[in-house]
Amino acid sequence: MSQAENIHDVVIVGGGPAGLAAGIYTGRGGLDAVLLDMMGGGGQVNTIDRVENYPGVVDPESGIELADIMRKQSESFGVAITFDEVKKIETTDELLTVNCTSENYSAKTLLAASGASHRPLGVPGEGRLTGRGVSYCATCDGAFFRGQHVAVVGGGSSAVMEAVYLSRIVERVTLIHRRDSLRAEKIQQDRLFAADNIEVLWDCAVEEVLGNNEVSGLKIKNLKTGDPSQLDVTGMFVFIGLIPNSTFLKGVVEMDDFGFIKTDTRMRTINPRIFAAGDIRQDSARQIGTAVGDGITAAVNIQEMLDTVTPDRQYVKS
Ligand code: NAP
Repeated sequence: MSQAENIHDVVIVGGGPAGLAAGIYTGRGGLDAVLLDMMGGGGQVNTIDRVENYPGVVDPESGIELADIMRKQSESFGVAITFDEVKKIETTDELLTVNCTSENYSAKTLLAASGASHRPLGVPGEGRLTGRGVSYCATCDGAFFRGQHVAVVGGGSSAVMEAVYLSRIVERVTLIHRRDSLRAEKIQQDRLFAADNIEVLWDCAVEEVLGNNEVSGLKIKNLKTGDPSQLDVTGMFVFIGLIPNSTFLKGVVEMDDFGFIKTDTRMRTINPRIFAAGDIRQDSARQIGTAVGDGITAAVNIQEMLDTVTPDRQYVKS
């Protein structure tokens, strides 16, 4: 039977902690669940060096290890994890059609758990030199800069955490932040200020990434004084927030101005057959633990919704 003829109970889009947690619960609950992921699962967790704030994980383990355990646990309950990219969702009252690059899937419900991607700075040179000194993942690319001087852009937990990670590998890290205080968690800030090879450029913005084939420096502007300067670095790591991976649901569910999906506390969107969980959701705390909680909440409510579908398959609103 082709995928198009097989009506799944739920299609889960995204194999990060939210999607995998939902996979564990829907699979264990006996639902026919298929999980679609462009990269095979793990999501942003794969880029975390040490997971130390996920309850129950006492000895920090890498994000890759944690995601791998969740993936195996989900598969052990019969969830099929499939490489595919969702392009569009078509909806009727009774059914959803999930159009992907390789296949189309029919499903009674859908869980959007496709997370968010790193936001680019949008300055000249950034796109051209991405992969040639510009990076959005310290765990992936840090080792290429051993013994060198790199810049990290941003003032949130991601930027500060990644600056500390890089300081253990490279010779020197310059954190560039547009204001004079950080929004990162205090524990992350304490680690940053304790590192003797990290300096902070306060109130500064990167105006251009310099270099022909590889990054050779950054054009900087002090936003308070207007003074220009140049920073000679071979790498720039950008961590200035996230863009939700929600394009495939544009016009189908309600989103905020940034594209984060609006849900109620049961993870329901305005479409009764579509749920959202994790970083893609408006007001998510964007932690592994909260993504897992969202995924479980969505799974429980998907199960409940399918149980309340009447024999003629009309959704009964509670
Ligand atoms: P974030 O908290 O939104 O911080 C983004 C940072 O980038 C802010 O400092 C912001 O500056 C700066 N920024 C935004 N746009 C910029 C631009 N165009 N140019 C220069 N700087 C710009 O993002 P995040 O650090 O990626 O964190 C995302 C979420 O994940 C947060 O909820 C965070 O708590 C969570 N997180 C948690 C952990 C953990 O271990 N607990 C680790 C990483 C992330 P302003 O401060 O001036 O706005």
